Amino acid sequence: MQFYKFTHPQYETDQDADKANPIRVSTGLQMPGMICSSCGEIWAGSRRLYLAVTDLALRRRLGVVAPLPEREWMQLAQDVRQVLSLPEDFEFQPGDELGTPIAELKTNNIPDFLHPFPGQIIVQSRVVDVIMGENLTGVRLLPLQVRWGDGKQVRSNPPPILFELVITGTGWRVDSNLENITACTHCGRTIFLKWSPIDEARWDSSDFFHVDRNPNIVIVTERVCALFAQHHFTNFLCVPLP
Ligand SMILES: [Zn+2]
Repeated sequence: MQFYKFTHPQYETDQDADKANPIRVSTGLQMPGMICSSCGEIWAGSRRLYLAVTDLALRRRLGVVAPLPEREWMQLAQDVRQVLSLPEDFEFQPGDELGTPIAELKTNNIPDFLHPFPGQIIVQSRVVDVIMGENLTGVRLLPLQVRWGDGKQVRSNPPPILFELVITGTGWRVDSNLENITACTHCGRTIFLKWSPIDEARWDSSDFFHVDRNPNIVIVTERVCALFAQHHFTNFLCVPLP
């Protein structure tokens, strides 16, 4: 089976990348980084959990980005579980993004796909129509609150309807597993091993999926690439995997 990394086209410069992706998506709420008492690393991942947080005191605590020493971090995680009525064994990671995402557009020239962060894919509703119409799997469609950002252009029209593709499919690569990607068993910090092929036996057959629990890389099936190309969608690239 041929798989593809789903990403943005190659841009010549950072300026070109910004111009092709004139969007900022943020919730303003996240689990801070953690200073591990065992491995000594200060680290944060980049999962987007987008759990709604309405409690004002908790929102204030989650609006601070400075990393916390492990004990304080664990206490915060415990408080979040309690306030959000999550099960005791719900595992947070440093850097987990909580809250509701808001997209801010810098221009009104919006392509079909937007790539604000590695692995984060925002799409226009015509892409959603194809995903739903063709029953593509491994993806949840999250409608975004969209507003115009500060800019010189006058925009009298309402902003376009945008969705974030929340990837739910999972897979592993040959030779990787939770044990050998875990760099520190104390804090759960993981590493991404050098590239190896997808292990089809441990792939959940989704059209969209993450490998080795890495939210920054999105893998898709040939069908996805063919459909998107057929519709002439803009600002995406399918890179065949070895
Ligand atoms: Zn650690």
